[in-house]
Amino acid sequence: MESTKECCTLDHAKDNRRRAWLKGGTGVCAMAWLAGLGFGPDPVEAASLTRSQRDALTPDQVIEMMKKGNERFRSGKMKAQNFLAQKRSSASGQYPAAIILGCIDSRAPAEIILDMGIGDTFNARVAGNIANQDMLGSMEFACAVAGAKVILVMGHTACGAIKGAIDNVQLGNLTGLLETIKPSIETTQFQGERTGKSAEFVDAVAQSNVRHTIDAIRGNSTILADLEKKQQIRIVGSMYDLRNGMVTFMS
Ligand SMILES: [Zn+2]
Repeated sequence: MESTKECCTLDHAKDNRRRAWLKGGTGVCAMAWLAGLGFGPDPVEAASLTRSQRDALTPDQVIEMMKKGNERFRSGKMKAQNFLAQKRSSASGQYPAAIILGCIDSRAPAEIILDMGIGDTFNARVAGNIANQDMLGSMEFACAVAGAKVILVMGHTACGAIKGAIDNVQLGNLTGLLETIKPSIETTQFQGERTGKSAEFVDAVAQSNVRHTIDAIRGNSTILADLEKKQQIRIVGSMYDLRNGMVTFMS
């Protein structure tokens, strides 16, 4: 592990990786990077994505990268992240592959549960993973300006914001935020107790809310909707299960 990090001394790690990538992925450093995507046996990440590496990825490959990262997380086989090396390699520029819109919940940190390093993804977090104007602007920057290929909306089980919306919590500025979630309550098909006490109902609404957020992204941002139509980006939903650590991607 350590020897691989040392081989990627940062001044030529990027160049080595870029050259190896362009030659078709031979070379030790390129192998380490491919392993980071889950395609190889040696998961060590000692530098951030370069522009050419990120630009060579398709949106589907980025999604695959995130799925493999979550597999590593929940199996306890996370990459050895050299954060100091990543910090140095990304200081002069960032080329993240995705933006993740997740909840603020302390138990749902996207970079950790997807096993990503510094510079790999943008992260937008707000209670209930809603897409308000500021979040839309952030996603437009991430995709249209900075070149991210995927928007991943990530809801999670046992979400307090969803419970609060169901139970009609009124609290300062939170009241308005919860109003954004409420349409998802009405559209949730569920037989049984439709209250915040029902864990199954809360999770069903959280899933509806992810779909609603995606609709809001497409409906309220012509920039992002156009990028998706041109297949330059993909907008996908997912649910993170606090109990088993699994991120389930929605089709
Ligand atoms: Zn939450």
